[in-house]
Amino acid sequence: MDMGLWNGLQWCWIFNWRRPLFQWEKGQVEELKMKLEEASLAIEGNDVPHWRFEERGNYSTKSFTTAVLAREIETLTSKNVWRGVAPPRVELLIWLVLAGKINTRSRLKKMKLIHQDNANCPFCNRVEESIEHLFLHCDFSWKLWCHSLLDWKIETVMPGSVETWFDMWMNNIKTGVEAKLWWSVFYANVWAIWFHRNKKVFENKEVDWTDVAYLIKSRVCVRGLYWCVLFVFP
Ligand SMILES: [Zn+2]
Repeated sequence: MDMGLWNGLQWCWIFNWRRPLFQWEKGQVEELKMKLEEASLAIEGNDVPHWRFEERGNYSTKSFTTAVLAREIETLTSKNVWRGVAPPRVELLIWLVLAGKINTRSRLKKMKLIHQDNANCPFCNRVEESIEHLFLHCDFSWKLWCHSLLDWKIETVMPGSVETWFDMWMNNIKTGVEAKLWWSVFYANVWAIWFHRNKKVFENKEVDWTDVAYLIKSRVCVRGLYWCVLFVFP
């Protein structure tokens, strides 16, 4: 399928989608377009991969490490999101949240895709829906986290960023099945918040936080049982 055409020496991208885009996808398309604009295509020659963190364009582990240490690459590899304690789509969501790539209303407002008047949190409708507000500070989310932490007899203060919250959670040293359970509580909470947020935004479905809290607990318990069985009968 043609993805565009040459307008003189300039390549113009043309996207044809199989279905109408959802609102949250429009933001991703705008982001893709901005990324594509950074590159100018040559009319002749073959495509070759170019690693931009090394002078000659060749990838090496050393150049990657140097770039990461110099913070040229905003990487989340060190965060170790991919722990195998939740389905891949859940891990991907966590990665997107930590990378600040999730299309909250605040982000869509910055991209001028929604009006300022529509940028409030769908749960409380009091504060702009930033990542931090939605996943940490909104009353709805805060109650979910507290409910989960109560099971582990932990009291804490919510930090200012999701990244710090993730670090605090993952640095709470635990081992074996207990560690897996602990990690999965984090993943289950973030997933549930985003899932029910979307239910509210796109289907106008309200949910009581207590129902979500028990859903999270049951999900973690089911996975815990699975891991215990694996542990007992490897
Ligand atoms: Zn809120």
